[in-house]
Amino acid sequence: MQKKYLKKNFLFKIINNDIKKNKIKKINTRFPPEPNGFLHIGHAKSIYLNFNIAKTYHGKCNLRFDDTNPKDEKKKFVHAIKKDIQWLGYLKNKKIFYASEYFKKMYKYAIKLIKKNLAYVDQLSKKEIKKYRGTLKKKGINSPYRNRSIKKNLTLFKKMKNRKFKSGEMCLRAKINMKSNNIVMRDPVLYRIKNISHYRTKKKWCIYPTYDFSQCLSDAIEKITYSLCSLEFLDNKELYTWILNNLNIKNQPKQYEFSRLNLEYTVLSKRKLKDLVKKKIVEGWNDPRMPTLSGLKRRGYTPQSIRNFCKKIGISKKNHLIELKLLEHCVRKDLNKISHRFMAVINPIKIIITNLCKNYNEEIIVNNHPLYSEHGKHKIYFNKTIYIDESDFKEKPTPTYKRLTINKEIRLRHAYIIKAIKIKKNFQGKIEKIFCTYDKNTLNKNPKNRKVTGVIHWISKKNSIPAKFRLFQPIFTIKNPNNEKKFLKYINKNSIKTKNGFIEKDLLNHKKIKFLQFEREGYFLVDKAETYKNKKITFNKTISLKDKKNFMKT
Ligand code: ATP
Ligand code: MG
Repeated sequence: MQKKYLKKNFLFKIINNDIKKNKIKKINTRFPPEPNGFLHIGHAKSIYLNFNIAKTYHGKCNLRFDDTNPKDEKKKFVHAIKKDIQWLGYLKNKKIFYASEYFKKMYKYAIKLIKKNLAYVDQLSKKEIKKYRGTLKKKGINSPYRNRSIKKNLTLFKKMKNRKFKSGEMCLRAKINMKSNNIVMRDPVLYRIKNISHYRTKKKWCIYPTYDFSQCLSDAIEKITYSLCSLEFLDNKELYTWILNNLNIKNQPKQYEFSRLNLEYTVLSKRKLKDLVKKKIVEGWNDPRMPTLSGLKRRGYTPQSIRNFCKKIGISKKNHLIELKLLEHCVRKDLNKISHRFMAVINPIKIIITNLCKNYNEEIIVNNHPLYSEHGKHKIYFNKTIYIDESDFKEKPTPTYKRLTINKEIRLRHAYIIKAIKIKKNFQGKIEKIFCTYDKNTLNKNPKNRKVTGVIHWISKKNSIPAKFRLFQPIFTIKNPNNEKKFLKYINKNSIKTKNGFIEKDLLNHKKIKFLQFEREGYFLVDKAETYKNKKITFNKTISLKDKKNFMKT
């Protein structure tokens, strides 16, 4: 099933080569999110890669919370991340790992580096460290504290641990080379003081390892063999190996980089997504407009569609902007198979069938799916008053208009051909009712020589219940807000529209049905929270039925 994904993927080539050369026995990977926000579809790319490598080679893939920076890390994010990965189809009953569990081991490794004279306690300020570090063009300069004795460094590091200093007053740095061409290697910080309580270790520690120090060690402790990360860590690779080499770690994990996912009309960075939440531009991390997994789930995306998308985009070292069309194609394909077909009218306008008596009520049985009979059937009712969508009638049609207009016929889906006779307008000139006749000989058949140009969806008034529909557009107005520093300047103010319409009453008898196609309208999913809030059944529109050229249309 994944042959193409595997073949095209440069990482699989590396692994296969390592196996051939007997360099490796077990293939272990990990997915290391920081619990400071919700997962987004970029993370799904990494999850799909890591869990599939482990599966293909019968190895393991650890979910490890990279929780070494207590500032924004929270239990609620741990829960949300676990839930999302499970929803995506991974991590069933598996042990979960936390970098914070290795704090003691990491502390010991730091002492080992100090003892080897490869780390020192610095007391330059954060600003000074940055200044001394230099730039790509300018070499760095040594800190005046670089040559302290090992003994002094050991004492100071212990004091750091024992809360003898304030946050930021001291830090532990690796002693490498301030003149290195790779800025990451200019005496990187390994430990910093943060007098902040950690969501797991509480007040036990006030010194915390940096990403660079903790990532390679956590990988080594868990016997990870392939540590896969996104391209921005390319320069950190040298440090990753330096730390492991100097701590004499055997069977070292190897870091390989791949490009991050960038998707049109959205941002894929937790920090930026957090801004949208904090500034209340969206309703929360799981707002259906968000590219988070929980947002996509609420919008009506399926795990299968996201896995398919990850498979299609593949893995490479080149940064691309992926078209939103591709993600939409994947969800449409899945929903087409699994969705039950019902009818809903989103912008209702009334039709009165003049040649039907008031009490007439015809039951019509319709299939819930045009191809798969296992989706079952349901009943619709044809009677005197029905709703159609406002856009399916035009008083003054253009020559190419194919739907209902005065003196023209149209077919009602699953039912009869009707003909519009006259309209009634209200005081403001808005059409209130359309009077039509129906042809009783046309139930699901076309009499000879009759050319009926279109089929429209409808619901009889008696068989309808009111519903709300939430229609979406992208959150951003430009294709690549990721590249913009002031990305909040490009917020689309029309990204959500709410409509009041009707759905078939019979839907209430099909409680188990989840994914719906409202015929001609698109795919929809009930929004439970909004339904509860509005006291009215409320749907999120997942996606239209066809590709849209303009994403700024709902
Ligand atoms: P963000 O910038 O969104 O906060 P992050 O890298 O800080 O992302 P982490 O929680 O550290 O978020 O990410 C966990 C893993 O997911 C990392 O290995 C990271 O490389 C990967 N990852 C994050 N964003 C993407 C993306 N857009 N595409 C592919 N992989 C990603
Ligand atoms: Mg990160």
